[in-house]
Amino acid sequence: MTARSKRAAATLATPQVVLKALPAKSTRAAPTQRAQLEALQTENLALRAKIEALEAENRTLQIERVQPITPNELDVLRDAIIHNVSHEMKTPLLHVKAAVANLAEQYGGNKSTEYAMTATARLEGIIRNISLLAGSTDIHPTPALLRDSVEYAIRNLRRSWEHRDQVNRVQTHFADDLPPVLMDGQAMGIALQLLLDNALKFSKPPTPITINATLTPSEPQRVYVEIVDCGIGIPQDQIDKIFEAFYMVDSSSTRRFNGVGVGLAIVRLIMERHGAAITVKSEPGKGSTFCFTLPCAALGR
Ligand code: ADP
Repeated sequence: MTARSKRAAATLATPQVVLKALPAKSTRAAPTQRAQLEALQTENLALRAKIEALEAENRTLQIERVQPITPNELDVLRDAIIHNVSHEMKTPLLHVKAAVANLAEQYGGNKSTEYAMTATARLEGIIRNISLLAGSTDIHPTPALLRDSVEYAIRNLRRSWEHRDQVNRVQTHFADDLPPVLMDGQAMGIALQLLLDNALKFSKPPTPITINATLTPSEPQRVYVEIVDCGIGIPQDQIDKIFEAFYMVDSSSTRRFNGVGVGLAIVRLIMERHGAAITVKSEPGKGSTFCFTLPCAALGR
């Protein structure tokens, strides 16, 4: 209980004593007693008004106490959780992974070690995405080169054993006159990494993955970026849903990839924080094209 509400509660208790002490109304009361009674009744009314005011104040105080935390506080809290969780989970997971690999080596691969290895790979994917989410919430757009973000994405993909050799399939076609854009280079690198990761996962080698970047013909102050793959494609009725967190197209070809379903939610978040929208054109069996536009730095400043 706060000092203010304690004070309110103490004041509320006092009038009850006064009310008990009030004499019952009597028609036979002497004039002085009647005057006394009227004075007490007036005082009583004043006290009642005071009680009501204090009760109202008390209610306000209660409401103040349970007021939800502000969006800003929520952002800080969420960032701290994301950051700590990803950090604290990485080391134990590395130990588990090493132990499972050791067991598999010592006793030969069997069903149990296979399950354990698949489960650790999945956990690793989840933690990686949580870490990426941590890096994608604090966004400060400044003039930057798209090429640098693409290189950042490719460098990170090369570190993952799944994609190490596959990354060579990625080709870039950048217009010669491409100006710097207004973006957070690292966050955009994360978004490109996630989009390329999907493009590599959901298309077969040796088909190429292409990143095209040109000035938008209809809006020359914006750069148009697209990531094109010739993979399994996405059914039309799933296109809006794939950007929801933890959504995966439910098909055997998708399930094979041990996905988590948060990659595109992170991409959408990064784009939104840049005031951009991500869209997708896709045809099952033919491939997918994810596109977005970014403002040119010169005009955006
Ligand atoms: P994850 O890849 O971890 O499953 P995402 O959020 O990145 O999660 O993607 C959600 C789903 O969208 C994927 O599971 C897949 O079904 C579909 N998807 C995303 N990118 C592609 C792509 N390039 N080609 C085909 N399907 C895709």
